Amino acid sequence: MIHRFDRLLTELPPPSDYDPAGAAIVQELMGGKFGEMSTLMNYTFQSFNYRDRAKTRPFYDLIANIAAEEYGHIELVGHTIGAMLTDLNKTDDSPDITSELLQGLSAGNPHHFVNGGKGVLAQDSRGMPWTGDNVFSSGDLVSDLTHNFFLESGARSGKLRVYESVDHPSARALTGYLLVRGGVHQVAYARALENLTGADLSKLFPTPRIPTDKIPECKPHIERGDHARIYRFSPSDFTQIAAVFNGTHPETGDPLEVVDDDPESRPRPQDPDPQPDVFAPDYAPEEIEEIADKLREQAGLPKRDKGE
Ligand code: MN
Ligand code: MN
Repeated sequence: MIHRFDRLLTELPPPSDYDPAGAAIVQELMGGKFGEMSTLMNYTFQSFNYRDRAKTRPFYDLIANIAAEEYGHIELVGHTIGAMLTDLNKTDDSPDITSELLQGLSAGNPHHFVNGGKGVLAQDSRGMPWTGDNVFSSGDLVSDLTHNFFLESGARSGKLRVYESVDHPSARALTGYLLVRGGVHQVAYARALENLTGADLSKLFPTPRIPTDKIPECKPHIERGDHARIYRFSPSDFTQIAAVFNGTHPETGDPLEVVDDDPESRPRPQDPDPQPDVFAPDYAPEEIEEIADKLREQAGLPKRDKGE
């Protein structure tokens, strides 16, 4: 089971420029074949289907625990697209539907506006829905791990291309973080395979070559050590990861380590402004606010909860 915290894995910049065209590109990182929904669901289904756990637990723990991190990645992509579709000038009661809504329709993905509340969709950058066909779970551990290495490699290539094609600060912060974390997962699956079979996948497939140390949005995460660290997302389980995630990082030489995650140290998600032109959260948000205030009062709760 999953225990959810109202936290994000990393800090994202607040909404700034309204960028529907950029947001449509970032959708690839959510619902694309190599997007975060794919990594999340691949490792989740592989963990469901994993057999003979007691005897081979380190590999099970690695896959199941990385699945938990991937949930945090889909959250980050969602918040990024929400920020890029937040029009800071669109908070009054008189939505100017003819200008910016039409700009969004023509520049980006119409579903962001027509069927969504300027939020993320379970689609790729073409507007194609994410599909379970993207899940590979063969039951054969070596096949699954090899697939996962390939999936992380493809995912990082995609992130780099999104980084290069979208200069919005939210998209850059997102891809900077995900490039570093995807690198860790690449190393993790490569180490698992090397420990299991002796094959060095990072020598066999030395791609993608991504100079993360030269990418400004990657730097703070590398300086913190996040390029060589698996966080354990459970208070008491998945304790055997270190048996496979060990040795040194193939690019930096830093020791690979497993660290217990501290959710309280992670930042709170932002609270994006209402967007009345798409009735999100309502054509008149203050009506819902009033109702929520009354309900809180009746329940004896504090009046406004900023999530702190
Ligand atoms: Mn990911
Ligand atoms: Mn990953």
